[in-house]
Amino acid sequence: RMNVKKISTGSQALDGLLAGGIETRTMTEFFGEFGSGKTQLCHQLSVNVQLPPEKGGLSGKAVYIDTEGTFRWERIENMAKALGLDIDNVMNNIYYIRAINTDHQIAIVDDLQELVSKDPSIKLIVVDSVTSHFRAEYPGRENLAVRQQKLNKHLHQLTRLAEVYDIAVIITNQVMARPDMFYGDPTVAVGGHTLYHVPGIRIQLKKSRGNRRIARVVDAPHLPEGEVVFALTEEGIRD
Ligand code: ADP
Ligand code: MG
Repeated sequence: RMNVKKISTGSQALDGLLAGGIETRTMTEFFGEFGSGKTQLCHQLSVNVQLPPEKGGLSGKAVYIDTEGTFRWERIENMAKALGLDIDNVMNNIYYIRAINTDHQIAIVDDLQELVSKDPSIKLIVVDSVTSHFRAEYPGRENLAVRQQKLNKHLHQLTRLAEVYDIAVIITNQVMARPDMFYGDPTVAVGGHTLYHVPGIRIQLKKSRGNRRIARVVDAPHLPEGEVVFALTEEGIRD
């Protein structure tokens, strides 16, 4: 775990849960129900990675792979403005790529090797969401084995990019809300143990009152247990 760098989420509570923020050389999964804040966190981290180290960033660029069409430049603008950053700069430092199906998503990640070796200022790769095309194209139990195999290969490729190029990789995964999920085995809710054996940090997100959200780290021996509350605001992720 040497030489790991951190990107602030914008919430001190969430950063505290993560011992400083999202790590480079690591794949971090945000999973949770619709509206739990996964996409907002991906937007915020794409802006925050650009901040200087003393403000919680890495003075870096982001690659944003959007599989669901939920990326909004307007959110980036609002978040950049709230931090007093130059909006055009911030937008130029995000490589936005829309992935239309699994083959495309896999091909994009295949090609990233070249991009990140050419541009070492890339410090964050987002895949929001990593699972939606796989679920749509390989539905049901009968396709589970093939889906797992393809998805695992894709995830290991992302993990390697993180490790080799000192990049923070964030993936998201939408799961159903279940009352017992937070205290039961969350992997069961993922629809098979899809992401279970992949290395990295898993953060479960849950809706709370109004704009409040709850985050919990799952299965990370080096991080303290417990939950924190953060807020989704017009300006971005806050306490
Ligand atoms: P997920 O990706 O987990 O489905 P999102 O990250 O898209 O969820 O979160 C959606 C929520 O983010 C909305 O319900 C709202 O609470 C908040 N949100 C989105 N845009 C804004 C905004 N412009 N101002 C304030 N809150 C917003
Ligand atoms: Mg989303």
